Amino acid sequence: MLVALAGGVGGARLLSGLVQVVDPAEVTAVVNTGDDMTLHGLHISPDIDTVVYTLAGVHNRSTGWGVATESWNVMDELERLGGETWFRLGDRDLATHLYRTQRLGEGARLHEVTTELARARGVEVRVLPMSDDAVRTRLVLAESAGGVAAGTEVAFQHYFVGLRHAVTVSSVRFDGVAEASPAPGVLDAIGEAEAVVVCPSNPVVSIGPILAVPGVRKALVARREQVVAVSPIVAGAALKGPADRLLVELGHESTVVGVARLHAEWVGTLVIDERDAHLKDAVEAQGVRAVVAPTIMSSPQVAGSLAAVVLDAAR
Ligand code: GDP
Ligand code: CA
Repeated sequence: MLVALAGGVGGARLLSGLVQVVDPAEVTAVVNTGDDMTLHGLHISPDIDTVVYTLAGVHNRSTGWGVATESWNVMDELERLGGETWFRLGDRDLATHLYRTQRLGEGARLHEVTTELARARGVEVRVLPMSDDAVRTRLVLAESAGGVAAGTEVAFQHYFVGLRHAVTVSSVRFDGVAEASPAPGVLDAIGEAEAVVVCPSNPVVSIGPILAVPGVRKALVARREQVVAVSPIVAGAALKGPADRLLVELGHESTVVGVARLHAEWVGTLVIDERDAHLKDAVEAQGVRAVVAPTIMSSPQVAGSLAAVVLDAAR
């Protein structure tokens, strides 16, 4: 059995590689829910949905989020009504949020609903939210942007989608995390896995919330030699999103060395891109074994080969 810690797109990409090289039923994905939000009264779990849509093969390949062959009738109508349309929800995607919200309203827990949604889409990977409890990533802006004053704390999607993450941040916190518990199965899976794979997801706002759930970091430290991470930073930059800027804004280095230093306590091996091969020794000086491989998953083939490298490194 394998565990993979995942955010959205980077997580989904590596998971789609892992299921090419191991039985999907042997993979447990522990997914960030710090990006979750309530909008139009609906519970939206963007990272879980990205992972499930990708593994089901129904994802939109160009955006990385949402469903391919989507229509936008509801958003168009909502726009005419003057409703909130800044966070785009396609017609098919909305069915997911309706289902989730209704089941949670009936008293089902998020991990149960996630299992139901994954099964309904034929996904064999066990997809678990990091927690059933509400954990919400919030960021304090270091400068004013979009009518929001510097020093104001905003919700994750306000920063990420509303402000298009084009603003500097002075701090990040995970509201509710101290009172949260890992979802049932998360700690057992980490404890029993032959390898724990850390997908190339945003270290601050995708992996950060998972690590902050009480008990998770300790469970990972205990498995350090079997923990293999893939760097989301390639040649000093993120492939998409604000990972590079957030690292720097929060006092880290936006390089594979910075990633190694940040995770050295619980990551035994870091897979770095060929373009960072010259930094192998500097990574190892952080006490983290470095493996060099092509990590830009531009095709399913690259994702599959990268997954094989990751598994080799863990064994
Ligand atoms: P989000 O939740 O959709 O924003 O995505 P994640 O947190 O999973 O991932 C964002 C990070 O994944 C960015 O830092 C990207 O650089 C990284 N990433 C995405 N695709 C790839 C890839 O193919 N290879 C590597 N090495 N990193 C990737
Ligand atoms: Ca995300």
